[in-house]
Amino acid sequence: MATFVKILIGSILAAYLAMKWTAPSFHPESLKGARVLVTGASSGIGEQMAYHYARFGAQIVITARREKVLQQVAEKCLSLGAQKALYIPADMANESDPDRVVDFALEKLGGLDYLVLNHIGPTTFGMWEGDVEHTRWLMKVSFLSYIQMAWRALPSLEQSKGSLVVVSSLLGKMPNPFTLPYSSTKFALNGFFGSLYHELAMKKSNVSISICTLGLIDTDSAMDKVRGVTNIPAYPATEAALNIIITGATRQLDLYYPWFTQVITLIKDWFPSMINYFIQNSYNYIP
Ligand code: NDP
Repeated sequence: MATFVKILIGSILAAYLAMKWTAPSFHPESLKGARVLVTGASSGIGEQMAYHYARFGAQIVITARREKVLQQVAEKCLSLGAQKALYIPADMANESDPDRVVDFALEKLGGLDYLVLNHIGPTTFGMWEGDVEHTRWLMKVSFLSYIQMAWRALPSLEQSKGSLVVVSSLLGKMPNPFTLPYSSTKFALNGFFGSLYHELAMKKSNVSISICTLGLIDTDSAMDKVRGVTNIPAYPATEAALNIIITGATRQLDLYYPWFTQVITLIKDWFPSMINYFIQNSYNYIP
C-alpha cells in the first residue's frame, strides 16, 4: 500500500511538473495598453487584479457597488502606472447593470481585450436553512450576470482576439458543507463556461476562455467567514490575482491556485470516501 501511495504521489508530481514546463510563457509587455474590465474590484482579489493590471500599464475599467471605494482603487491604479483607470458603480442584482457596465467599458476604452468576471454577492456561511430566495438572488448576482456580461462583450472580444476570464472556486468542483448557495453558483459557472469553451473552439472563435479554480484565499470577506471554523490554509490574494492575470494573458483554459487544488480535484473521484472524510473533518461543527 505504501509503495502504491508513493508511486501515485510521484506520478501526480511528475504530471504536474510536465504541465508547468509546457505552459506558454507570459510576456508582461503584452498587457501594456490592454483594455481590461474587472468586476468585483473594490476589494479582495478583484482589487489586487486591478493593481497588477495597472503595474503592467493596462487601461482599466473597474466595477462593484461602492462608488467611493472604486474611486480610491482607480486613483491608486493611476499612481501605479495604469494608462487609464475608470470606474462604474453597479449592482449585478439589477437586470440592466451587467449590460450597462460592458457598454461603458466598450465606449470608454473603444473595445475590450480582457473581460475578467470576478464579483460575488455576499452570502451566508453555515448549515443550509432552506433559504431559496437568497439562493435565487445569488444565482442572479454571481452567475446570471456573468453570462449576460460575457454575451454582451463577445463581439468586441472576437474582434480583438481577446480573453474571457472567469474566477471560480474549488467549491465549484467539489461539494462542501456551509456554502450551498455559493457552491451552486460556482458549479453553474464551471458548467456554462466549460461548455462555452467547446462552442467557441468549434466555431473557431478568436476568444479564449480561462476558468480559474481557487482554494481558500486570504481576503477579508473569506477570512471573516472561516475564522474559528476551519484550519484550512489561506493563500495570498495578490498572488492569486497575478496567477489569474497570467492565465488569461497566456490564454490557458485552466488555473488551479494553489497548485494542490488540482490534485484534490483529481483524487476526489478516485478516493471519494477519503475526501469526504477529510471535508467533513475540516470544519469545527458540533450538532
Ligand atoms: P470579496 O468579497 O473580497 O469581493 C467581492 C467583490 O464583489 C467586491 O468588490 C464587492 O464590492 C463586489 N460585489 C458584491 N456584491 C455585488 C453586487 N451585488 N454587484 C456588484 N458587485 C458586487 O471576494 P474575494 O476577493 O474573496 O473573491 C473574489 C473571487 O474569487 C470570487 O469570484 C470568489 O468566488 C473567488 N474565490 C475566492 C476565494 C477566497 O477564499 N477568497 C476562494 C475561491 C474563489 P461591493 O461590495 O463594493 O459591491
